[in-house]
Amino acid sequence: MDYAQLLDGKALAQRIQSQLKDRVDQLRSTQGRPPGLAVLMVGDNPASAAYVRNKERACAKVGIASFGRHFPTNISQTEVEQTIRTLNQDPLVDGILLQLPVPPHLDAVSLLHQIHPDKDVDGLHPLNLGRLVRGEPGLRSCTPAGVMSLLREYSIELKGKQAVVVGRSILVGKPMALMLLEADATVTMAHSRSQNLTEVTRSADILIAAAGRPELIAADMVKPKAVVIDVGMNRITDYEGNSRLVGDVKFDSVREVAKFLTPVPGGVGPMTVTMLLQNTVLSYTRVHA
Ligand code: NAP
Repeated sequence: MDYAQLLDGKALAQRIQSQLKDRVDQLRSTQGRPPGLAVLMVGDNPASAAYVRNKERACAKVGIASFGRHFPTNISQTEVEQTIRTLNQDPLVDGILLQLPVPPHLDAVSLLHQIHPDKDVDGLHPLNLGRLVRGEPGLRSCTPAGVMSLLREYSIELKGKQAVVVGRSILVGKPMALMLLEADATVTMAHSRSQNLTEVTRSADILIAAAGRPELIAADMVKPKAVVIDVGMNRITDYEGNSRLVGDVKFDSVREVAKFLTPVPGGVGPMTVTMLLQNTVLSYTRVHA
């Protein structure tokens, strides 16, 4: 049996990070300061805390300065807004990221709108989303940008191919669909109200699973020889009480059908963090250009 080739996001992420480190070293010596990233986190969500640690560790690895702020759960909207305004003005800070989700008393959308579009390294400000819709250069959402980078690395043809994105969030699904469209794929989006999901996903030459549903995509939902990208990161606990991370794709069985497949972990996850670093450097170099 032919198993799918795995798309190694971890290895590609390491290669890009090593190039970024060289670039950051060079920028530090010519401009007198490294690029800076401020990751804002509110509350004590353990998954968010782990993501934030991961991002700060990656920054340290490539030499990006971290200006992170960790707020208590009961912080007010005004206080977070004030911090964002200060960071918008701070010449040492090139990127600002609000770790989502935030506690329900805060208005996340309004906070995201406060981040200056030139420092919006998560690509979630309406101006950057609008630039993506128009196909103009701008800061792009990290996870879909990471997927595109991975597809490019393995020379996967997108032009004229049928692409299906399962999930329509503003963070992943929608920008993903727009990026595939920009690359000339024929794009279909599916979501929780879609009917006959299996029929839709089986039409895909390129299938992107971003639903946040553990192992939603089974082998019979995949067209033979398709490229399958698993964005999902779901922590599940088995009957013995052990917790582990699984994607939105049934890895073992889909591996027997697909031509290319991303593992979880080690696929899209490391690419997301790397695109965040890349966006921070991009934001720095645009200001210093
Ligand atoms: P989200 O905001 O919860 O959106 C999930 C989307 O999937 C929604 O559009 C939802 O449809 C759709 N959906 C849910 N159940 C479905 C089903 N049974 N069939 C078809 N569509 C379904 O999640 P997200 O932020 O986009 O994240 C998606 C997954 O990616 C999560 O597992 C998350 O942890 C992971 N993620 C990974 C990375 C990474 O770096 N690897 C980064 C970000 C997110 P409706 O719109 O109709 O509700």
